[in-house]
Amino acid sequence: MLTHTHPDHVGNVGAVVDAFDVDVWGFDPEHELVDHAIADGDTVVIGDDDHLALHTPGHKDDHLCLYSREGGILFAGDLVFANGGFGRTDLAEGDRETLIESIDYLLETVDDDLEAMYVGHGPAVETDPLYHIELAAQSARMN
Ligand SMILES: [Zn+2]
Repeated sequence: MLTHTHPDHVGNVGAVVDAFDVDVWGFDPEHELVDHAIADGDTVVIGDDDHLALHTPGHKDDHLCLYSREGGILFAGDLVFANGGFGRTDLAEGDRETLIESIDYLLETVDDDLEAMYVGHGPAVETDPLYHIELAAQSARMN
């Protein structure tokens, strides 16, 4: 399950596919690595829980977050990080206004009882992750 297709996130996909004989899921079915497309609003099963896919561009066009409402868990990819960090928008397909809209979309979607956020870079957030997302929404508007 790909949050997006930047090289630092997909560099080992070929080896994973070879080792485990698995299919690859991602937002963009045109991408060479993606076997199955996931659209905004789709539900995908990871482990025991359903996860809602949220199309969240701004860092990259094909970016997804995956949110388990029942598990209280968010996989945030490179949209937001701990302590108000957020994905860079100076690469190809990056756009700050779009990123801010995506963070707002995330805030509208996740419940108040979100317990944990796992991010593409840096530490997981297992204490009040919603606060960290709100910080990111603010800091993305300032920087
Ligand atoms: Zn990235």
